[in-house]
Amino acid sequence: MKIYDTIIIGAGAAGLMAAAQLAHRKKSVLILDMGDKPARKIAVSGGGNCNFTNMRADYPRYFGKNPRFVMSALNQFSPNDMLNWVKRHNIKYIEKELGRFFCKDGADKIVQALIQDIKTVQIKYNTKVIDVDKTDNKFTVATDHGEFMATSIIVATGGISYPHLLVSDIGHKIAKKFGHKIEPVRPALCAIKTKSFDSCLAGISLNTETTVNKHKINDDLLFTHFGIGGPAIYRATLINPKEIIINFAPNTDVFELFKKAKQTNGKKSVVNIVGEIVPNKLAHFLCDDTRNIADLRDTELKQIANKINCFEINDGTATGFQSAEVMMGGISTDKISSKTMESGLCAGLYFVGECLDITGDLGGFNLQWAFSSGFVAGNNA
Ligand SMILES: Cc1cc2nc3c(=O)[nH]c(=O)nc-3n(C[C@H](O)[C@H](O)[C@H](O)COP(=O)(O)OP(=O)(O)OC[C@H]3O[C@@H](n4cnc5c(N)ncnc54)[C@H](O)[C@@H]3O)c2cc1C
Repeated sequence: MKIYDTIIIGAGAAGLMAAAQLAHRKKSVLILDMGDKPARKIAVSGGGNCNFTNMRADYPRYFGKNPRFVMSALNQFSPNDMLNWVKRHNIKYIEKELGRFFCKDGADKIVQALIQDIKTVQIKYNTKVIDVDKTDNKFTVATDHGEFMATSIIVATGGISYPHLLVSDIGHKIAKKFGHKIEPVRPALCAIKTKSFDSCLAGISLNTETTVNKHKINDDLLFTHFGIGGPAIYRATLINPKEIIINFAPNTDVFELFKKAKQTNGKKSVVNIVGEIVPNKLAHFLCDDTRNIADLRDTELKQIANKINCFEINDGTATGFQSAEVMMGGISTDKISSKTMESGLCAGLYFVGECLDITGDLGGFNLQWAFSSGFVAGNNA
């Protein structure tokens, strides 16, 4: 049986970037993937335009037991390196918000460029990895299409969100088998279900300040038929989807505004005043009070103002892996070298990308992590 230098499990962002580095180093490489084509998550990323990096990628934008773990990999292959890679492959890109880069002509351009970089690498699709063993310094990878051998293994099996794209937790099983700890997993970067709002609000979008465990997120919120979504809420799920405080008018102290209106505009109805601060439908949902503002006591006005500046949600639940962009938790980084991505418990075994207990913020941070960690493992395996 042929013994490859490296077998990479997973042809996603991290696995393909690792393969490109190994190919550059003239190593013999086999990639095994259970799907029928590469990088299916890149293809759907960024609404089809792949938000491939973010210039602000640094450890404060990452979550997990030890976010600082990302620092070395991000230094070895930085957002600027990623942007230069995109330029080198003649991929047209746009910077949508400060530091957030997308493909101009679709996410497939990134996938094609990754494949172009690994022409010498063998890829076996529709091949599901079931187990990995190590004897006499050689790894044997068992799949549903037979066994393969290599002197090193890169586990790039991703997370378990978006199961219809074909995912598995084999990375966790392999890690556990070689003594690594697994941090509990949960869905993140997704909408949340809550009974706090009415489905008639679905479709309304507005800028909010969302507070979760003292973290403040300034971003857009979108009402859905079953709760709330949009970037503000997606990002809140990275921290705690259950307890969220929303300020629907982040630039207005609504109680102060009410007190002034009472003096200067006393005959105006309170709901009309609220309608000048937030979209009309939301105003009616938060305060359906048609009395003149002058007729309301300050305690009543304070209660209404609180609903606008400080709306508390205590029943939020993440919509689930079916629709979550990422999985939080995963293989503990404890016994893995941040400089090489190699296991400290099993020489020659590497872990990269989303299967690790590292999750990035919304905005290109997850793909940057996948590319950086893949790059590092590909230079060391
Ligand atoms: C809808 C959506 C939009 C997103 N948009 C963005 C974005 O714009 N920017 C951003 O930064 N991030 C985005 N993400 C997150 C990002 O796509 C992922 O974090 C990233 O792709 C993870 O890369 P990876 O290589 O670790 O894993 P993956 O890309 O998931 O690759 C893992 C591969 O391993 C294979 N595999 C798994 N188990 C087995 C097995 N048993 N045998 C063989 N093969 C196996 C899978 O088939 C898969 O091909 C998005 C995610 C989703 C779902």
